[in-house]
Amino acid sequence: MIQIDDTTHVSQSYNERVRFLVLHYTALDTEASIRALTAPNNVSAHYLVSDKNPQLIYRLVSEDKRAWHAGVSKWQGRENLNDSSIGIEIINLGYTNPNKQDLQKVTWYPFPDEQIDAVIELTKDIVTRYKIDPTCVIGHADIATGRKKDPGPLFPWERLYENGVGAWADANKVQEKIAAHTVLDDIATIQNKLARYGYQQNVTGQYDEATKGTVCAFQMHFRPSKFDGKWDIETQATLDTLLEKYAASLPKYTPIIPAAAPEKKVICNEPLTDLIDDLAATIANGVDSLIAAIGQFFPLEGAANVLSHLTNSSPLAPSLPMVVLPQS
Ligand SMILES: [Zn+2]
Repeated sequence: MIQIDDTTHVSQSYNERVRFLVLHYTALDTEASIRALTAPNNVSAHYLVSDKNPQLIYRLVSEDKRAWHAGVSKWQGRENLNDSSIGIEIINLGYTNPNKQDLQKVTWYPFPDEQIDAVIELTKDIVTRYKIDPTCVIGHADIATGRKKDPGPLFPWERLYENGVGAWADANKVQEKIAAHTVLDDIATIQNKLARYGYQQNVTGQYDEATKGTVCAFQMHFRPSKFDGKWDIETQATLDTLLEKYAASLPKYTPIIPAAAPEKKVICNEPLTDLIDDLAATIANGVDSLIAAIGQFFPLEGAANVLSHLTNSSPLAPSLPMVVLPQS
């Protein structure tokens, strides 16, 4: 029989295995939530916060065990957050779904104050015990963008922050930034900033669906008044404020330069008259396709010339719509 001596020599080099705290809503009522999280169906969480009795929190999985709540997930470069997090499920129905496509139009269920009081007490204790960084207190939506929405835009992250749990961008700093710069970042910069804060975000230089999903998750957490996934100056000021405020605790990040996007096809050496002939031939396909073709092949000034030529010479000139070209 071996003997373990755990007092004579003790190392000082270690840290906690738990680095993240992930918050969820169950999207089910109390009975269904308990059933779902205790049945043998591969879903669990360490804690379940009741909505009926705010003083009651169920511990479903011991903290030293790995609960199955995060699924495919990533934050600050780490994947599969079940390995390194505590998961809390909060009983809340999520949202009604008359129009699931547009999350701005669904009705979200609010969290009762007493329930949030309980969440605060529980999370305060957890972040203190494991020394969890504010930027590592996150929602399921943050670590599984596009796939998950919980705990949703009504979850009061700001209240948690005021109680010492999680990160928040101070409103006065955000306003200062809005006043100071009115220029939106280019897409690659936006993607790099989101990735630097922790989001799983590829740097493509294209504002694709994945990017929109990440921006939506960021907005639901940090700028919940509008979470349409569109980048705007307030969203930018909020992220910039967070990046500055928590710079020291964020992992090292090297910005990625996206591979060059394919060049837009621009024909510029052909004589203008030849192109006008080609375009005039396509007029038979209808005015809309003609306008689209012009827009595709010419820079703004060229398009203006072609349009004015066609308007004067084409037999269909009277049916051409008025075209107002945008200012370059
Ligand atoms: Zn969840």
